[in-house]
Amino acid sequence: MWCIGMKSSAISQSLQSLSDSLDLTRPEVSVVVPVYNELESLPQLIESIAQTLTANQLSYELICVDDGSTDGSAQLLKQQAINHPHLRAVLLRRNYGQTAAMAAGFKYARGQAIVTLDSDLQNDPADIPLVLAKLEEGYDLVSGWRKNRQDAALTRLLPSKVANWLIGQITGVKLHDYGCSLKAYRSELVADMNLYGELHRFLPALAFIEGARITELVVRHHARLHGRSKYGLGRTFRVVLDLFTVFFMKKFLTRPMHVFGLLGMISMLSGTALGVYLTFLKLGLGEDIGDRPLLILAVVLLLTGVQLFSFGLLGELLMRTYHESQGRPIYRVREVIEANVKNIKQEE
Ligand code: UDP
Ligand code: MG
Repeated sequence: MWCIGMKSSAISQSLQSLSDSLDLTRPEVSVVVPVYNELESLPQLIESIAQTLTANQLSYELICVDDGSTDGSAQLLKQQAINHPHLRAVLLRRNYGQTAAMAAGFKYARGQAIVTLDSDLQNDPADIPLVLAKLEEGYDLVSGWRKNRQDAALTRLLPSKVANWLIGQITGVKLHDYGCSLKAYRSELVADMNLYGELHRFLPALAFIEGARITELVVRHHARLHGRSKYGLGRTFRVVLDLFTVFFMKKFLTRPMHVFGLLGMISMLSGTALGVYLTFLKLGLGEDIGDRPLLILAVVLLLTGVQLFSFGLLGELLMRTYHESQGRPIYRVREVIEANVKNIKQEE
């Protein structure tokens, strides 16, 4: 046999380089695309992603997650996936929403980097190599900025401007365009994050909480050619509500008692001070305090204080369950650098 006489380490090395060159396990990039009723756009999308990535000599997989489409998108994806070695179709049982579809895509992605984009061709697949190149500069997340966005001005652009400003203020991550789906992530970053609700637009903020290096890059944006947008004005309110969640996660995730406990303490102390004052009036000076609003305030402050304090304690318990049940440490390690003892010994 050809390998007789070869050392076992040499064999494993050559097998390694063989699997590397075939990229059987980890492509350089996984492109993740949520699909909800985008039948007309899909053929061109798959085609242009394949063209761009092949032209740039990137090994890739395309993961299309069908989010319960009713227009035959799922059937088309199924058909294409059978003939197209790079395409993986993940079909969800029903419509769960864009965030869930993306989370499913992340779960199946095996690439070293992950790029997400919309399936309606509003994002331009030709930008994928550009965001990847930016990622290579040493970032963990590159977020697209649709500087020249092609959507309705009043119902989309204006609410989005306000939302972007608000998100920037509250989360502390200053990006121009959180809503842009075209983003590139280092895969380890995505593995660390759990998505709920409509939190996909807060991924940069969540990533920032995890200590990621984030930047943005101007990308192209086209008007929708086929089908209709799945969102209206209602989204703005949901975004604002999600914003509270993210704000809370950012601020208090590891120390709820510091926040609730402090507020509770302030409230209890002021309630007690008022109570002492009123008791003095009643017992010391013999005044009638039964009909004084101050008495009500004192009682409310005391009760609120106790409640806030209990919230803090409950928060501490929940936070411990959150971290410990999922094996999530309260820190994230970027890199560990250590001398390779074996190499040093050999050199000696
Ligand atoms: N999408 C999805 N599930 C949904 C709604 C949307 O997977 O419930 C996908 C949709 O197919 C598209 C992307 O999410 O690829 C963004 O949706 P859309 O283009 O309607 O949003 P817009 O660009 O108008 O903000
Ligand atoms: Mg769109």
